[in-house]
Amino acid sequence: MALDDRLGASGSGLRRGLRDALGTLAATPRLLVALDFDGTLAPEVDDPEKARATPEARTAVERLIELPRTRVALVSGRSLGDLEQVASFDDRVLLIGSHGIELRLDEPDDVLDLDDSEREQLDVLGQVLDQIADSLDSVWIEEKPAGFALHTRLATERHSRFAHLVAVNELKAEAPDAKVRLGKNVIEFSVRSTTKGEAVEHLRRYTRASAVFYAGDDVTDEDAFVALTADDLGLKSGDGPTAADHRVGGPAEVAAVLTLLAALRESATHDAPGTN
Ligand SMILES: [Mg+2]
Repeated sequence: MALDDRLGASGSGLRRGLRDALGTLAATPRLLVALDFDGTLAPEVDDPEKARATPEARTAVERLIELPRTRVALVSGRSLGDLEQVASFDDRVLLIGSHGIELRLDEPDDVLDLDDSEREQLDVLGQVLDQIADSLDSVWIEEKPAGFALHTRLATERHSRFAHLVAVNELKAEAPDAKVRLGKNVIEFSVRSTTKGEAVEHLRRYTRASAVFYAGDDVTDEDAFVALTADDLGLKSGDGPTAADHRVGGPAEVAAVLTLLAALRESATHDAPGTN
C-alpha cells in the first residue's frame, strides 16, 4: 500500500506537510527517534503481555538503528522489564520505562532507589488500591517500580468510574504526596514523579540530538509533545486533543511514517556521511 493510502483520511495538505517535515528532519546532523510503544508501535490489545510492534514498524526501527548519528528510544509507561519483554528490540534501542523513572541506556544505569519515606508511601498506596481492586470485578492492580497502576480496561463503565473516583479520593487522604497520572482505562499512582517530557529532554541530552521525532497516542505523551521544539517533529497516533504538529490514524500509519523516515534518513546519511 502506498504511503499516501496508509496515511488515511487526513487532508492532502497534512500529508504533504508531514512528508516535507520528515524530509527536513531526516537531514538533521544527529537524529533521535523516540517512540511510545502501546497504541503507537503496537496496536492496543486486551492482554498487555500480547502487545507487539507491527512488523513494518519493527523493520523501520531496525533500519534506523543501523544508521550513523541516529538513535532510537522507546518511551513507555510500562515497567522497564515489561517493556523489554514485549518490545524485544536490539539492545541498541534505548529504553525508558515507567514514564521516565527507569532507564536502559548504553551502560547499565540503576536510577531507581527509593528512600524510606517513599517506601512507606508505596506501602500505603498498595494497601488502599488492593482494597479497591478486591471489591470490584475486572479491576486489577499492576505493581510499578515506584507505584501502582489501577487497570479498568475490562470493567464496566460504571465500575471503572467508581474505581477511579474512590482511588483518587482515598489516596488524597491517605497518601497526599502520591503523583496521579490518568491514561486510557488506567490510573497510575507513584511516589516519584517524572513525565515523558522529562524523559525526552534526558534522551535529547544523552544522544546530543540536533532534532527529535516523537510519536505517541496517549494523554501522557502530551508532555513529550510539549517538550518538542521547532526543529523537532511530533506525531500523534489516533484520536484525542494533542499538542503534536501532525496526526495519523494509528499504529499502521505510524509504521508507514517510520518507514518513510528510515528511507529519507538512509539517503541523508549516505549523502552526507559523518562520524557516528
Ligand atoms: Mg501509548
